[in-house]
This record gives sequence, structure tokens and C-alpha cells, in this order.
Amino acid sequence: MLENNGTYGVYGGAFVPPVLETQLKKLSDFFDQITQTDEFRTEFIDVLKDFVGRPSSLYYAKNLSAYVGSKIYLKREDLNHTGSHKINNAVGQILLAKKMGAKEIIAETGAGQHGVATATACAFLGLPCKIFMGAVDMERQALNVRRMRLLGAEIVAATTGNQTLKDAVDSALDYYINHPDSFYLLGSQVGPHPYPKMVGYFQSVIGNEARQQILNKEGRLPDSVIACLGGGSNAIGLFSAFIDDPQVKMYGAEGGGKNIANNTAATLNYGTPIVFQGTYSYCLTDADKNPIASKSIAAGLDYPGISPQHAYLKDSQRASYFSVTDEEAIESFKLLARLEGIIPAIESSHAVALAVKLLKNKNSLSIVNLSGRGDKDVEREM
Ligand SMILES: *Cc1c(COP(=O)(O)O)cnc(C)c1O
Repeated sequence: MLENNGTYGVYGGAFVPPVLETQLKKLSDFFDQITQTDEFRTEFIDVLKDFVGRPSSLYYAKNLSAYVGSKIYLKREDLNHTGSHKINNAVGQILLAKKMGAKEIIAETGAGQHGVATATACAFLGLPCKIFMGAVDMERQALNVRRMRLLGAEIVAATTGNQTLKDAVDSALDYYINHPDSFYLLGSQVGPHPYPKMVGYFQSVIGNEARQQILNKEGRLPDSVIACLGGGSNAIGLFSAFIDDPQVKMYGAEGGGKNIANNTAATLNYGTPIVFQGTYSYCLTDADKNPIASKSIAAGLDYPGISPQHAYLKDSQRASYFSVTDEEAIESFKLLARLEGIIPAIESSHAVALAVKLLKNKNSLSIVNLSGRGDKDVEREM
């Protein structure tokens, strides 16, 4: 499915200026080569174990299961250090950057979650880091800005445009083009080749563990796996271990917002394929096919683009994607807290909501990816 040029069916590729093309080609070759070595793989596994706290547990949610009428296991990415799956990819890419001899890590962040994971892993692995963030976002996410500074990161304010995520990406890219000895750490399964491939690789630990864990506990594969999608990284991390088992259905929950065309982040449900931020995939657009802003209650799902691999899985009907509204997510946020004593991230609550809907009285076996913990969402009026 994945060819050397980084395409998934008609999707993916690398649509970038020539200077970046050279840098990305170097990155791609280096990634392919080093992930073949036992030394790199062992180092990555050791860091996941001792620093991140893996394997994360596969938890049988018996109260939720009784409520829904299906057997539901939760893959507990919320128990990772820093509280979500993002740290898996951050440590993977920074290990790679060190091997490449990068002088510093750069990354962009919107709500600050990817920035905090990056700053954390940079502190641990001993590389300086610059986090690009829209000036407006810096004000809205003051606590995460303080966290990142405490971890030793330098925050660079993006002061162009709306001063939010897209502007942070633009200024980080600009910096990367002018500093070829830096390493651009992308936080989701988006952007030009080789990023979707690399992020998929580093997050595949989720599905590989879950597959072994469910076989140990149930002696069989699940009937379905369910995850939420922002850019698509936690979902592909879970799905990838089951892609070749057609009896395992794969369901994605997009941030539906209010479920209308100009108030949603449900890219695969409402979007159109275009080239956006270096890759060809679905994107939320206006009638002239220009990208428009997404809207979701969940900062981590609030992105107008989507992974090219999920675009392919949708078109080939291997996976199905549903739009889950803000309201439904809030319901499930409360439901899981009450039933299981677990406060999920509002992002992950979208996956729980989809599970409740699809599995009602189905008497089936399912794994739901709990991508993160919800402490950050408690303060919001819900
Ligand atoms: C960022 C984030 C997401 C969405 O990102 P993906 O790349 O789609 O996984 C989901 N859940 C949590 C907790 C996040 O922080």
C-alpha cells in the first residue's frame, strides 16, 4: 500500500518547495535505514518502557460494557507520561533527530499538548527546542506555555495572520528552511512524506501492544477497534496492527463540532481532497477549494486536514469514519468518569461516544483507544 514516494492510493506525497525536498529526502532515507537497525529499535523500546511507562494497560471496562451491551476494552494511552499518546511519537522523532546529528528540535503547537510532549522529550534526551505558537494561542494556553518554559523550551510567538496554529506552522516551516541543521518534529500523521510514514511507525506501538493484550485476555481478535481523529495518529497507531485482518472493523470518530458544514472538524465526512500543508488528502474547504478553519470543542481534533492514510482507508472502505458532535463527546466525558472512574480527554471522549452508539446491544468485542487523560478539560464548563 505504501510506495517509496509516500503515497497511499492517490493520497499523500510531498508537495513542498525544492529546498525542503532535499531535506525531506535526506530524512526519509535516514529513517528507512535506521529503523532497520536493532540498536535504534532497542533504544526506542527502552525509552518507551522506562520513561513513557509502556506498555499501557488494556483495561476491561466492565461497567461501560454492561451499560452498552458489548464487551469494551480501553487502551489506556492516558496513563503515559504527560498524559497522552503524543509522547510516543515525540521520543521516536527526537531519537531519530539525535542520530541524524540535529542541533535543535523545532515544533509548532496549537493548544500546547504537542509542544509539552516535545519539550518533555527534548529535556529527557538532551536537545534544545524551539516551540512556535500563535500569539493568541499563547494567551489562551498560558499554563502550557509555563510548562514548556519550565521544561527548558524556547517559545517563539507567531504574530502573523490570526496568530493561531496555521501561522505557527508557517513560521516553523520558514525557520526550518533557513536552518537545515534543525529537526522539524511533526505531531500528527500529516504533512509531506516521510512524516505520515514516520508518525505511523512510532505510534504503531499502540496497536502492536493492544493486539497481543487482547489475544492474551480473550484468546481472539476484537470485532472492532475505535479511535478519535485529529490528524489521525492515535487512530493509525491502533488500526495498523489490524489492517490485514478484515474481520476486525475499524471505526474513526471525527470532531463533528455542531455537525454542519461551517462548524465542524470532521474532515473525512465534510472535506474535499486538495493539497494542504505538503500532502494530498481530504481537507475542509470553501466552494473554491481553499482550506477553511475547523471547529471542534476538542483542541486536539481541531484541524482542517487529515492523514493521507486515513483518506485511503476511507475510500477503500477498509475503515469507516463518523462525525461525533461536541455535545455527544461531553455526554461520554461525563459517562466514563461516572461509570469507570476515568476522566478521558475530550478528544478521546469522541471515541467513547462512537463506541456507545455503534455497539449498543451488539454483544461484540471492541477496543477503544483512550488517547489521553481529561484533567486539562475539567475546568471548562461542561
Ligand atoms: C492531539 C490529540 C489527539 C488527536 O491527534 P491524532 O493525531 O489524531 O491522534 C487525540 N487525543 C488526544 C488526547 C490528543 O492530545
